Amino acid sequence: MNSDKIDILENEPLAALTSFGVGGPARYFARISREEDAASALAFARERGLEALVLGGGSNVLISDEGFLGLVILNRITGLAVEEAGQNVRVSAGGGENWQDFVDHCVAKGWQGVECLAGIPGTVGASPVQNIGAYGQEVSQVVSQVRCLETATGTIVTFGSDECEFRYRESIFNTRDAGKYIVTSVTFSLTRGGAPVIRYRELEERLSGIPSLTAADVRDAVIAIRADKGVLIRTGYETLKSAGSFFKNPVVTREHFEHVREVLAGREGTATWFWPLPGGDVKLSAAFLIQRSGFERGSGRGNVGISPHHTLILVNRGGATAREIVDFAAEVQGQVLDRFGIFLAPEARLIGFGTSPLQARRGA
Ligand SMILES: Cc1cc2nc3c(=O)[nH]c(=O)nc-3n(C[C@H](O)[C@H](O)[C@H](O)COP(=O)(O)OP(=O)(O)OC[C@H]3O[C@@H](n4cnc5c(N)ncnc54)[C@H](O)[C@@H]3O)c2cc1C
Repeated sequence: MNSDKIDILENEPLAALTSFGVGGPARYFARISREEDAASALAFARERGLEALVLGGGSNVLISDEGFLGLVILNRITGLAVEEAGQNVRVSAGGGENWQDFVDHCVAKGWQGVECLAGIPGTVGASPVQNIGAYGQEVSQVVSQVRCLETATGTIVTFGSDECEFRYRESIFNTRDAGKYIVTSVTFSLTRGGAPVIRYRELEERLSGIPSLTAADVRDAVIAIRADKGVLIRTGYETLKSAGSFFKNPVVTREHFEHVREVLAGREGTATWFWPLPGGDVKLSAAFLIQRSGFERGSGRGNVGISPHHTLILVNRGGATAREIVDFAAEVQGQVLDRFGIFLAPEARLIGFGTSPLQARRGA
């Protein structure tokens, strides 16, 4: 099928386009490499009353076995534009650029600000959506502008960083305006030279003793840590099929935190499992809560399990269906809710399930 110079495929398989490796087909599918193509794809969806879903690297999604009934737009918009003024570097990157390649490029150029985010799979366009973060850095610290197409109208809209309402794994793009925009390019404010800032203890320890630390040293250390944890999707590394962290770390009130401590009855162990926040609330480690609800690393049910490296990562051990993954996730969620009274919100985006079997448990 042809729509205004873009090819629209029908019943296109999606599983291989996701890091979980599961899911049914897209009823309609368009691979786009220019902003104009995105506008054409959106017009195709509008004319037929179809829901449009943009897919980048497929590394933060769980697509149902039935697939997606609307139009999937695979974002492969590329291109880099750079403006340098003294130590300040403004880089605009196409939303379909590979995030890991983008970080490598910045590091090679000596631009700082994204080196701790090395090794995160996916695309540049998805990076502001859930405000990707790792090892003490969040992309919101360097995003200066996000350029989008509004899905309902095809109009170009540009957001400044403060308009994106960035929080932990959140922005307007995955909360109140979820699905409303396709991010076609992102502008980052990076810094040339200077000493990289390290805010993460494990990383600090790896880097101790290196004289005149560079962004490349930091990137290499992050890649090494990720490789050890089996969460590096790169040629030459063995990776488990997952969507990274399946759940977000929950934030609870001080009272609820004290309740959790009562449930633990002094058996808290030595690992850090909570972080007090300004204002009194407390962020808890979802991995810790899952483990204390009876799920050990490497455990699981049939084709689905907990990663042997990290309790927060649910893995397709081979041949899993989306239904098996979601059922296991619901079981984990239910156990944590029963034991600690805490609802673990999924970080991965569930697609094509109708009413999410996970969200449905809220307040159960
Ligand atoms: C092994 C592994 C490790 C990971 N480690 C981390 C980590 O350390 N930190 C972290 O934050 N995340 C991590 N993730 C999650 C994931 O890599 C990020 O969320 C990434 O930004 C997703 O990018 P993507 O292009 O694959 O998005 P996709 O999975 O394709 O899409 C995710 C969501 O974003 C939407 N979306 C995608 N592109 C756009 C766009 N251009 N415009 C609007 N909406 C869009 C999609 O519709 C979907 O809702 C990890 C995942 C894996 C598999």
